[in-house]
Amino acid sequence: MNWLTTPNGRGYAPRAPAPLPTVSADALLAARELVLARVREDSRFLLAAHDGLDGDAIGSLIALHGLLSALGKRSSILIGPDDLPLPTQYRFLPPDGITSQPPPDISEWTVVLLDCGSIERNATPALRQGKHLLNIDHHHDNTRFAAVNYVNKDASCTAEIIWDLLHELQATLTPAIAQALYVALITDTGRFMYTNTSPTAHLMAAELLQAGVDVPALYRQVYEQQPLRRLTLLGIALGQIQRFDGGQLTLAVLSAADFDRAEANDSDSEGIIDELRAIKGTKVAVLAREDRDGEHKVSLRSTDGDVDVSEIARALGGGGHRRAAGFTTTLTPAELTAFLRQQIAAQLHGATDRAYVAV
Ligand code: 5GP
Ligand code: MN
Repeated sequence: MNWLTTPNGRGYAPRAPAPLPTVSADALLAARELVLARVREDSRFLLAAHDGLDGDAIGSLIALHGLLSALGKRSSILIGPDDLPLPTQYRFLPPDGITSQPPPDISEWTVVLLDCGSIERNATPALRQGKHLLNIDHHHDNTRFAAVNYVNKDASCTAEIIWDLLHELQATLTPAIAQALYVALITDTGRFMYTNTSPTAHLMAAELLQAGVDVPALYRQVYEQQPLRRLTLLGIALGQIQRFDGGQLTLAVLSAADFDRAEANDSDSEGIIDELRAIKGTKVAVLAREDRDGEHKVSLRSTDGDVDVSEIARALGGGGHRRAAGFTTTLTPAELTAFLRQQIAAQLHGATDRAYVAV
């Protein structure tokens, strides 16, 4: 491994990305059967998702909780204290079954991790101590950390996988479950505009509408009840847009002081990245947010597929999808910018050895 020393003395070592495993259709079906067997046979389920909950994570948790409850199973949703209360736009969903403490007898519970590309994305160590660990996800670079890994990269969202399980188990699609699934679907597909918007995604939407989803009411809840601080934060970010390499990289950095100024928290930054990616000429949009430890949480989006941003994220220990990914880093904004420019150039032009970064 070649370590590089950054100007401020903190080294980092970008990894050459490991090739992703291919999963056959048979293996995927076998994993689905293993999940179904656990759901049928086990009686206690602890559900969790990645920290920094988004719409897919929350919708999948609530829908699976509803499904398990309808099947007569005991189910709890574990959400870490840092993720409570839920982001304001999701608070209208029924918060049934949420706990912030794992049960003391967790070794008797089946743990299900949803929408979680790697186990490190959930910081609760107790989750490793369940009776069984099920990994249900749609990230192509999922690290397959569990005993059962049901990872369908072709699912538009994790909620689409839950919707399929619900069919197989012949459970009723109640209006509450349909609403949770719909929130997950629209948020992960960018309201049916991203490349993961498959025919199945639309079939799912049709069925959810038949089950009672009130589209305009739900749209108002998710997108049009914004606290002013979110728009204040957006305004700060828009005022700090930087462009590099002819605009191919569009970047904004929000410091901890910016969050203080807007009286905003990290979940208030959701959606800002969509404004950055919409700027003409952008191939990769990046939003970096400084957290309380001085590290930066980085969101990456690729506009037209020329750059696989999950590969860039994996180089610094993160991951995601080809067109939407993220990681957390100790790099300074200047170092981060240099890293991103080099990685993008390497993918677009094969210009530089990807294992090395000049800062
Ligand atoms: P966002 O930018 O919206 O936080 O995340 C975009 C995508 O990248 C999501 O699918 C999310 O799960 C994934 N992602 C974000 N941060 C990380 C990270 O630190 N590690 C991994 N493995 N995936 C991440
Ligand atoms: Mn997802």
